[in-house]
Formats: sequence, C-alpha cells, structure tokens
Amino acid sequence: MFCTSCGASLQEGSKFCTSCGNAVAIQLKLPPDGFLHDPKSGLYYITTRAPNPETGANGQWVTWYYPETKQFKQVFTADQ
Ligand SMILES: [Zn+2]
Repeated sequence: MFCTSCGASLQEGSKFCTSCGNAVAIQLKLPPDGFLHDPKSGLYYITTRAPNPETGANGQWVTWYYPETKQFKQVFTADQ
C-alpha cells in the first residue's frame, strides 16, 4: 500500500505514513457523515461535512481519535 499524500511505500496495516505523517487509516471506507469505530485498530472516526474556513472549499472532515494515546488528528478532503 502507498501513502495517498506523498506516495511513500508503507507497511500493510500502517496507521500513519512514516514519511509525511499522513493518516493512512482514513483510507478505510468511512460513512459520509457520522461515526465509526474500527475494532481492529481501536480507532474512532468522526466524519463531518463542512467547508474549510481557510479556503472556503466544501468537503469532508475526518477526525480520528486513538484512545490509547488520547491523540486527535483532523484532515480535510475537498470535494472533487
Ligand atoms: Zn506520506
């Protein structure tokens, strides 16, 4: 598998890109608006549709939460 952000080759099952830090986990199929708990990885995902305040572009926010380390990360994907 490859990082969708920088194209680096990644180990199967990686959660984050070791090259650029991109969240590989968001390549999972997520609901367009809602909440998902992936029992395999233990990660929680929240997807929300909202415009990006910096660019004004419409798109989808994915927030994921890793309960073991209590880390949050959020990524915006603009509509194509
Ligand atoms: Zn990367």
